[in-house]
Amino acid sequence: MKITEHLAKAKKPLFSIELLPPLKGQSIQSFFDSIDPLIEFKPSFIDVTYHREEYIYKKRENGLLEKQKVRRRPSTVGICAAIMNRYHVDTVPHIICGGFSRKETEDALIDLSFLGVENLLVLRGDALKSEKAFAPHPEGNQFATDLICQVSNMNKGVFLEEVVQEQACTDFCIGVAGYPEKHFESPNMERDLFYLKQKVEMGAQYIVTQMFFDNQKYFSFVEKCREIGITVPIIPGLKPLITKKQMTVLPSIFKIDIPNELALEVEKCKNNDEVKQVGIEWGIQQCKELIEHDAPCLHFYTMNRSTSVQEIASALF
Ligand code: FAD
Repeated sequence: MKITEHLAKAKKPLFSIELLPPLKGQSIQSFFDSIDPLIEFKPSFIDVTYHREEYIYKKRENGLLEKQKVRRRPSTVGICAAIMNRYHVDTVPHIICGGFSRKETEDALIDLSFLGVENLLVLRGDALKSEKAFAPHPEGNQFATDLICQVSNMNKGVFLEEVVQEQACTDFCIGVAGYPEKHFESPNMERDLFYLKQKVEMGAQYIVTQMFFDNQKYFSFVEKCREIGITVPIIPGLKPLITKKQMTVLPSIFKIDIPNELALEVEKCKNNDEVKQVGIEWGIQQCKELIEHDAPCLHFYTMNRSTSVQEIASALF
């Protein structure tokens, strides 16, 4: 079922999760182990992230470092099929511009459609660590808007070779990312929202936000979106804090703020077990307020760790 249908049918806020495909070489069982405890809360859909090739350095016998390009989490398409097979839950594979030609993307989308996947989260992707700024594949899409355009065309039966099929073989529901604290490359929120609106005008049917720890940021973001005529559902993305290190790592990677009140609570913790408990309590309060404000769904970035999300979900659902 499409995410838009899930949202339209919902009588109360939905519950959904995001997972990363296993690292190359890891078994699928460890992946299932991170979903199993959350299935009792009936996730309406499960997102699976998409990853491009990145450079890693391997030490050769002569001691020199060898630079290799590796796709360390290669299995988004297969994992989506495995989830649907085992849990009968809708999946939302992420697809990204970075690292892929339009042709490779087209073929992956046909595979996903034939496997019964009806939803996509369409993203640009980030620059590689070795790049100063994001650079698209020479034959790839530059912005999420370009990729939305490709998916929308395929939904109409228009393929890259300009073959127009009598019937489209895909009919994806398209979601996109939104940033309550602004995308870090954007000069200001107004410009970022201008492009977000463009994503919706080009076919995005719902928005999932970057993680945030201060609900006021989400409320203000939704208000600004509505003011400029973005009417699609805006799903809040949530991440329970589990270690002290995340206090610096999350703001640095995702360009988000940790509220002072939360920082002070974490500061008092003697170990990560205590931090985890603070993260769970903060998450429960955040979710309760979001539910009071009619958030359409609570979407959790699990990072393949289920315990805190499980605790939060048991307090809510
Ligand atoms: P875009 O919407 O293309 O925006 C990128 C920047 O360009 C913004 O600053 C925007 O304001 C600007 N912009 C947009 N359109 C235009 C235009 N037409 N002209 C000029 N400027 C423009 N990354 C992964 O690699 N894999 C994942 O699975 C993944 N999942 C994610 C899930 C969520 C919910 C979120 C929030 C992020 C995810 N990311 C993922 C990270 C994401 O790829 C990065 O945040 C990336 O830097 C931006 O992606 P985007 O789709 O928002 O880009």
